[in-house]
Amino acid sequence: MTQDIREVLRRTFGYPGFLGQQEAVIEHTVAGGDSLVLMPTGGGKSLCYQIPAIVREGVGVVVSPLIALMRDQVEGLRQAGVRAAFLNSTLSYREVLEVEAAVERGLLDLLYVAPERLLGERTLELLSRARLALFAIDEAHCVSQWGHDFRPEYLQLSELRDRFPDVPRIALTATADEPTRREIVHRLGLGRAAMFVSGFDRPNIRYAVVPKNRARRQLKRFLEERHPGHAGIVYCLSRSRVDDTAEWLRGIGVDALPYHAGLGAAVRRRNQDRFQREEGVVMVATIAFGMGIDKPDVRFVAHLDLPKSIEAYYQETGRAGRDGEPADAWMVYGLQEVVALRQMVEGSKAGEMRKRLEVRKLDAILGYCELTTCRRQTLLAYFGETPSGSCGNCDNCLTPVAAWDATEASQKALSCVYRTGQMFGAGYLIDVLRGLGNERIRRFGHDRIPTHGVGADLDPYRWRSVFRQLVAQGLLSVDMEGYGSLRLTEASWPVLRGEEEVLMRRDLRPARAARKRKPKETPPPPDPATWDESLWEALRARRTELAKAQAVPPYVIFHDSTLRDMVHRRPRTREEFASLSGVGETKLSRYGDEFLAVIAAQERVCRTRGDVRP
Ligand code: ADP
Ligand code: ZN
Repeated sequence: MTQDIREVLRRTFGYPGFLGQQEAVIEHTVAGGDSLVLMPTGGGKSLCYQIPAIVREGVGVVVSPLIALMRDQVEGLRQAGVRAAFLNSTLSYREVLEVEAAVERGLLDLLYVAPERLLGERTLELLSRARLALFAIDEAHCVSQWGHDFRPEYLQLSELRDRFPDVPRIALTATADEPTRREIVHRLGLGRAAMFVSGFDRPNIRYAVVPKNRARRQLKRFLEERHPGHAGIVYCLSRSRVDDTAEWLRGIGVDALPYHAGLGAAVRRRNQDRFQREEGVVMVATIAFGMGIDKPDVRFVAHLDLPKSIEAYYQETGRAGRDGEPADAWMVYGLQEVVALRQMVEGSKAGEMRKRLEVRKLDAILGYCELTTCRRQTLLAYFGETPSGSCGNCDNCLTPVAAWDATEASQKALSCVYRTGQMFGAGYLIDVLRGLGNERIRRFGHDRIPTHGVGADLDPYRWRSVFRQLVAQGLLSVDMEGYGSLRLTEASWPVLRGEEEVLMRRDLRPARAARKRKPKETPPPPDPATWDESLWEALRARRTELAKAQAVPPYVIFHDSTLRDMVHRRPRTREEFASLSGVGETKLSRYGDEFLAVIAAQERVCRTRGDVRP
């Protein structure tokens, strides 16, 4: 009686094949085994438990902390014809009773439950009366007390094993590191579970870091050139910067909303809801906005401030492009924040151990910013993977950056720091190096020191780049009193004595970089010969209408990739329509005719215009 899992994949979800380890996980779970699944965001974790829940007898119980998303997740499943429901605090008592009745009568394939709800006696008893297909523990890293998503309720999930020893459990997370993995196994009692670990690469994300010049103008250009009208996230460090940036973006016509812990819960919920359910909303946020984003079509993540660590950066940028379509991880980064972050870490009141760890993490992210080689290689190596070759989809691969021998410039900069008494910031030091004779310089007598004017060969832009990289490489340190004055470190001396060479990135001047870059539209249609923008727009408009009518997010009707497939393949019959990726039987019967009509109408327009169609 077991349905073939490939059959379910095709008929219910409309996909021709499995991704990565999906099939192995699903087979293992269908056979009743426990497992721990580590897969990157967008890797297709959901099907790993959804298909076994459909195939196995009884209801699959999904534990998830993301209450705000349950409604949409369940809606997505129902659209595909899966019998799904959820239990959380947003339901009325009546609705709870209905769901409970459905569970008892065996009418559900999947039930999403918040952890605190699941562990309540009422739910546990309900489940012990029902037939259970499996437990899926989503976002399993929430059990880790060291992570920033810790949920105390998750600690009690080990109870499931004791109460329901025969029901297979599958824990899933996108958090890669080894300590977290060990903690999940330990806390959830998964000692005998099979481990499925996937590579963590996100090939559809393009990584880029640009030297900060005028951040807003750079962001504006980035949005105009690559993401007009697209949904995305802009991360800032502070609440006030979030508010200012969101307001400024609205001023230039971007549909931007703020999100940070200082906003009232109702405002936060409203903004998150709009971001999740509407198209083309840009969320400007502090890192408080993170967990609970399950929007597949986030086209970019932009950082206006440096994240604290590579882990944080990878997690934050990982929210882009879950649907596998091209997406950007873009960051501006400059001297000022290198100085500020160094100061913050050095001056931190944390214990010695903790501080050393923070310094290491900061060094790693600074090193990442200053790379002249493939960024993806470095990211993956950081997570213990060995990628093969450069990726061809990061800024350094696409526009190779020269490294230059900055030994002499570094010596000049360092000796200028030394000669001026290690009490000035980069701006002043650059003026001295370039031989300016302003009042302040004369007052300190720095127009008479040997380094005055030795740096006239480089312009201020290049000097800022030199100072930034000296600080990033630990060849200069920053005072802790908050004036941002630069000091020599132990590592400075070998450079000054000519024993060490210094290599630096040759930053492209933003203006020049911009002129060189051709304006690009994103995501580029793979084959321009079959692309028809007006058909695309018409299909999107129909999808929005259908979504509005049912009060659901557009992507639960069809993903962008399915619409794109329609544009390229232009199906004329239901049969052709059924062969599109993402069209299962239920969606075919619900929406096939609607979308076929849009395509047919468009063809007629083209014929009367006399366009030639392939
Ligand atoms: P995760 O939870 O791991 O971040 P999801 O389960 O949300 O990822 O899946 C990410 C995207 O990949 C979704 O848009 C989903 O529809 C799509 N997807 C999942 N499995 C397949 C598959 N076998 N074939 C094609 N697309 C898939
Ligand atoms: Zn690369």
